[in-house]
Amino acid sequence: MNTNRKILFIVAFMLMGLAVATITNVALNFRDYGYSNALEKSKMTAEMVRDGLTAHMVNGIMDKREFFLSNVSHTRDIQAIWLVRSPTVIAQHGEGFKNEHPRDAIDRQVLREGRIISSVREDAQDAILRVTIPYIASTDGNPNCLSCHQAKEGDVLGAISMEFSVNDIRQTGALTIAKIFGINLLFLVIALWATQHYLKPYMKLFENLQQGIKQARKGDFSFRFTTTLKNGGNEVAEQMNTLFEKMDETFGNIKQDLGTFMSRSNIACADPLNSAGIIIKELSDVYKFKKTIELDNSKEEIYGRFIYVLKEKFHFDHFALYEVDKGSKTRRLIYITDHKSFCTPTVDADAMGCRAYRTHTDVYSTDFAHVCQNCSVSNKEYTCVPFNINDDLALTLSYSANHLRTIETLNQVLPSIKSYFEAAKAVIESRTLTDKLRDSSLRDGATRLYNRRFMEEFIDKTVDQSLRTNDSYAILMIDIDYFKMVNDTYGHDSGDVVIRALAEILQSSVRQSDLPIRYGGEEFLIFLHNTTKEGAVSVADKIRTQFSAQKFQFGSETVQKTLSIGIAHFPADADSIWKVIKFADVALYEAKHTGRNRVVEFKKEMFNSGGQF
Ligand code: GH3
Ligand code: MG
Ligand code: MG
Repeated sequence: MNTNRKILFIVAFMLMGLAVATITNVALNFRDYGYSNALEKSKMTAEMVRDGLTAHMVNGIMDKREFFLSNVSHTRDIQAIWLVRSPTVIAQHGEGFKNEHPRDAIDRQVLREGRIISSVREDAQDAILRVTIPYIASTDGNPNCLSCHQAKEGDVLGAISMEFSVNDIRQTGALTIAKIFGINLLFLVIALWATQHYLKPYMKLFENLQQGIKQARKGDFSFRFTTTLKNGGNEVAEQMNTLFEKMDETFGNIKQDLGTFMSRSNIACADPLNSAGIIIKELSDVYKFKKTIELDNSKEEIYGRFIYVLKEKFHFDHFALYEVDKGSKTRRLIYITDHKSFCTPTVDADAMGCRAYRTHTDVYSTDFAHVCQNCSVSNKEYTCVPFNINDDLALTLSYSANHLRTIETLNQVLPSIKSYFEAAKAVIESRTLTDKLRDSSLRDGATRLYNRRFMEEFIDKTVDQSLRTNDSYAILMIDIDYFKMVNDTYGHDSGDVVIRALAEILQSSVRQSDLPIRYGGEEFLIFLHNTTKEGAVSVADKIRTQFSAQKFQFGSETVQKTLSIGIAHFPADADSIWKVIKFADVALYEAKHTGRNRVVEFKKEMFNSGGQF
């Protein structure tokens, strides 16, 4: 039932209720009023009869009383009227006429109890009011009853019974009720018509509003409101239309518009405003993240924030973040929540073993069991996702969960996580470039070995700390013998070739933890980490022999060069690394002066006798 009909029904129901209440009330009152009128009439008749009878008695014409009663009956429109003598009167004046005996139980009851009894006898055709009124002996009247009757005051002397037709009352009542009913019906029809006429447009507008709002809740603001109402109603419709037009413009395509900022396929909300709210919150989080990482100094700091977001915002329990060097196709672990790796060890050396990196697609164990051959996660669901940063760098994120439902929940937030990576892409790229620039400022361009500047930072950051950790360094200072001669004889470029060849020998002769440095023109330093004295001499000798065996072809000439090496030890020779470098230089000086093509270890006496400082 629509609202309009509902209202009409309620109005009709209320008016009907009112009509029924009114009619019932009128009918009841009318009946009571009619009967009490008839009762009054019978009482008056009883008075009149008593007075008449008294007059008959006084005038000695009591035997004419039947005629009198008959007259009364005719003039007062009484159907039946009769007198009843009480035993008191019978005892004094005799039985009277035959019809003056009690005719029924009512007569007898009235004689006995001395009170009026009235009742109505109704059937379909007629309604008869029967009233029986007692005559009570009293001294108040004129003449005094007791002057003729031998009775006590209050004795019942007799009674008069009357029967009136109250049909006319009933008919008048029925007619009145019919009229009231007719008026009510008419009023009901008018009220319904008026309600319908004046309310219908409002109801229509209301239903219109309902429909429009229902559509709007689903994000469709294309609904336009119409009304036939004037004075206010049309304003409401117009204002709603303006509002909806604006909403349509602003929010109509908001989901799509926002979708261009973020891939939010996981927002499956029917209400676009709600979706927009979620997206805006996501965008704001991603924006804050981006603003924060823009001020971060290094790539590592940015990775740290990713890890924080994955743990704290997305509640990842087991995950790993890897960085792939696209040039060398090697992979580096940035972070893992525990020590259980996601992949077999070969993947770090050959990033092409990572299915996600190789195929540039997300890898879901939920799609296919054991989807990745190199995955070492067992009895768990996992997902691996590649993120390309630039031509040199990519990231991969792997995460796992014990249960299917958990991994599906994590997979649902993947678009959000990708948004974070997307937002960070440019910043990571820029930090990579900065790192590269910084690296190039710390390396020698010709040999790609670290330069003196790097060495200073290294000493500041690392070597001081080694005192606390009991680490040691053997420092080798290397200088090519009679190098000037190469420049002078074969040209500067040939000199450069020799320098580069030596740099390669140095690089290949040391371990990962050792550090070769181009210290000056054709002078090099090597920091050998935690090496014995014998070990240091052995490395130095290896370098010396390898270099001296190297043949250089300059034009038609084959040239071989030698070098000299001085060795000192930190912290064995001095507790300052700078001093140890000086001592290595002293040892080198000693090697030069004692014939060149030699390895010489520093001794305190050299420093005392050298006197070159
Ligand atoms: P010594 O045996 O005493 O070391 O004799 P030396 O001729 O090698 O003397 P020294 O070590 O003093 O010579 C350094 C020379 O190296 C001076 C400079 O011309 C040359 N040199 C320095 N840097 C470079 C460079 O980058 N390329 C070339 N080609 N020559 C360089
Ligand atoms: Mg030199
Ligand atoms: Mg030299």
